[in-house]
Formats: sequence, structure tokens, C-alpha cells
Amino acid sequence: MNLYLGIDFGTSGARAIVIDSAGTIQAESQYSFADSTDNLTAVWRQALFSLIAEIPEEIRGGICAIAINGTSSTVLLCDQTGNPIDSPILYNDSRGVKLIDKLKEIAPPNHTVISATSSLAKLLWWQDLIPPLVRGARGDLFFLHQADWLAFLLHGQLGISDYHNALKLGYDVEKLCYPEWIENLEIPFQLPKVLTPGTAIAEITSEIAANLKLRKDCVVCAGTTDSIAAFLASGAKSPGEASTSLGSTLVIKLLSSSRVDDAKYGIYSHRLGDLWLVGGASNTGGAVLKSFFSDAELESLSSQIDAEKPSNLDYYPLLKAGDRFPINDPNLPPKLEPRPENPVEFLHGLLESIARIEARGYELLKQLGATPLTCVYTAGGGAKNSIWTKIREGYLQVPILKPTHTQAAYGSAILAMQGMNEKL
Ligand code: ADP
Repeated sequence: MNLYLGIDFGTSGARAIVIDSAGTIQAESQYSFADSTDNLTAVWRQALFSLIAEIPEEIRGGICAIAINGTSSTVLLCDQTGNPIDSPILYNDSRGVKLIDKLKEIAPPNHTVISATSSLAKLLWWQDLIPPLVRGARGDLFFLHQADWLAFLLHGQLGISDYHNALKLGYDVEKLCYPEWIENLEIPFQLPKVLTPGTAIAEITSEIAANLKLRKDCVVCAGTTDSIAAFLASGAKSPGEASTSLGSTLVIKLLSSSRVDDAKYGIYSHRLGDLWLVGGASNTGGAVLKSFFSDAELESLSSQIDAEKPSNLDYYPLLKAGDRFPINDPNLPPKLEPRPENPVEFLHGLLESIARIEARGYELLKQLGATPLTCVYTAGGGAKNSIWTKIREGYLQVPILKPTHTQAAYGSAILAMQGMNEKL
């Protein structure tokens, strides 16, 4: 039996899921990073190997393809043997804020790389820091994303990435090449060669096969980012299908036939084969609910809400002033008044208002040219609230579906399966 392994490196831990050709989960393993801050790459290496080693041997021996997702914009600089020469720079590290002006000079207006946390900002930061002597004359250092490096540990080929991870490095996902303005930078590091996510890269090294008791012909495929892997897990496949994440913030992703990018609203598109995954994120969401209610209160108060009746409250729930999507206003004040004394009524107003913002978000994507919405899968802490789902359905006017799976590792396993099928 051919099995497929997906590995997810998230912010607090890592997870592995093995599926068969029917998509049924055959094994799972988990690894928590706890509070490890020292020697992160050693922790990641250890996590990768122990996740695989924990898979029961009879299942491990059936794995024919592996794909790994990492956190977007977590990057490393390595020597020619793949050893990191500095600590990785994590996804949310904004030291690149000093380079915003430089990024504005080199990149086209409103490009997604113009952000303190983009991969390119981190690359430029290293470029300024590492003296030419250390870099070597021909650029002997490799710039990699987390997922690229982890895959390298298995297949042994340095300098290979995928076009999901490489988007925020400036890779042109439409023309499938590095744009001229990047080529002109004469970057002193080796930029990764970029493949379609899921493409079979190479078989695992014989050392890895022997040490981890994996099949010698097990192939490692190009990976993706954590949020795209979670989207792939949801089951959304056709244009118009979307996923809303109701976590601390509100994040929407819509599968569209056309690409939409609008830096003003922080909207950008990832390529997904012949389609585009258009996304936007609002600062409203569960964090505001959490500032007023415990999870238990959210559950018990929600059950007392009559979703058929309007609350007649119109809020813009935020923890602090400012939002970008679907309203671009850095000074937008939180609107949480008038506040009824009855907490059920107050919560009703909050849930309804967040639902309105979600619907406005999808409407904005449509106005900007994205495929109209047909259904929405929901992930995150708010997904379990059935009253909220009913309220949201009223605003969205499309069915809200339960995702087939929510784990990013499952999405990566699907990617490995697709990669293997294309190879055959
Ligand atoms: P993140 O990973 O973004 O921190 P989660 O997906 O874990 O967030 O979701 C946590 C959020 O879900 C919290 O902010 C909490 O307010 C919200 N939440 C938890 N239970 C409910 C509920 N029953 N209804 C609505 N929201 C909820």
C-alpha cells in the first residue's frame, strides 16, 4: 500500500499525518517546541526525526512520498553543507522594519515584499550584516525557508523551494521566475530554485532511509506554507470555495479563477495550480470576544441567542484602533457601543458585527475581481459555535461547511500524494 506523509511545522509545535490513497489517516504524531528558544534549528531537526520515528514501523515502511509545510517567512542562511550560519529569523520577526525604505526603492509599488516581516526584508538584513569575507566571493551561502531546509535534511539537495514559500521573497508566481528587479540586486546568497508545491524533488538519502527505516525510493516533494496546507486540508477545491479562520483574528481565503492583489487592503494571491488563493485578514475576531468572555461563557451565552432575530447593534469589534481589511484605516476606532446590560444581547451584537465584517470582506474580494463565493469552510476557535454559523450564513448567503480536515499536516500529506501521482 502506498502511503503519504505530511509534516507541519507550526508556531508552537510540529505534527505528522500519514494518509492512504483514499485520504484516510493511518498514523499521526506530534512534537511540542515547548519554550525552546535556543538553537532552534537543532530543535527543528530533532522534531522532524522524532515525528517520523514515532510513526509505527509497518506504516512508516509504506510511505512513498513526503511533503513539509513551514511557517511562512521563517528563513535561514546556511553554508554549503546546509549548516545554518546564524539563528533562523522567524515569521513574525520585524527587524526588517529598517529596510522598508530600501524595499520600496527596489520592489514595484505595493509589492507583498514591502513589509518588515517579508522573506526579502530578512534577506536584506542578513546581506547588511554578514561581511563579504564570510559570504564568500561567489555567494556560497544559501538562503532558505524553514520548509526548504527541513526537506533538505531528508533529500540532501540544498537550494530548493516552492512558489508558496517564495512569494514573499519576491518570486514572480505568474511568470514562474525571479523578476528582473530581484536579479538586478546581485544578492550575495544563493536564492532557492523554485518549484510548484508538491513537485517530486528527489528520493530521501540512503542515510535517512536506513536511520528512519523508510523506503529507499520514498520521494520528498516541494512543500508549502502552514496556512495554505490548512486550506488544502479543508476540502475546498473549486473556484468560489473559501475558508474563514475564526481564531484570534479573522482571516479569509477564497479560491478564485482570477488573481487579486491590493496592497492597500493587504490582499494578495497565492498561486494554486491554475487557480488563485486570494486572502485578506482583519484585526477583528476571537481576541475581542476573549477580552469580554471566557470560552465557557461564549458557549453558554451563545446558546441563548436567537439567531433568527437581528441584534440591532452595529459594532466594529477591535482590541485597538486600526484595521486594513475590509476597511483600510489605520486609525479606525473600535466600535463597541451602545453596550446592553444583558451579556447575551452584547454577545449577539459582537457575533453579528464580526459576521458583517466577514461578509464585507468576501464582497470586497468580489468587487476587486475574484470569483463570487459559493461556500465557506470554517476553521479556528469560533468554528464550533453553531449559533454564530447560523448568523454568518444569513450574511454570507452561502452554505457554511465543516472542513473535511483542519490540520495543516493533512494538507501537506495531500500535496505529497498529488506530487507522487503526477510523477507516475
Ligand atoms: P488562534 O490560533 O488564532 O489564537 P484559535 O483558533 O485557537 O485562535 O481560536 C481562539 C479564539 O476562539 C479565541 O479568541 C476565542 O475567543 C474564540 N472562541 C473560543 N470558543 C468560542 C465560541 N464558542 N464561540 C466563538 N468564539 C470562540
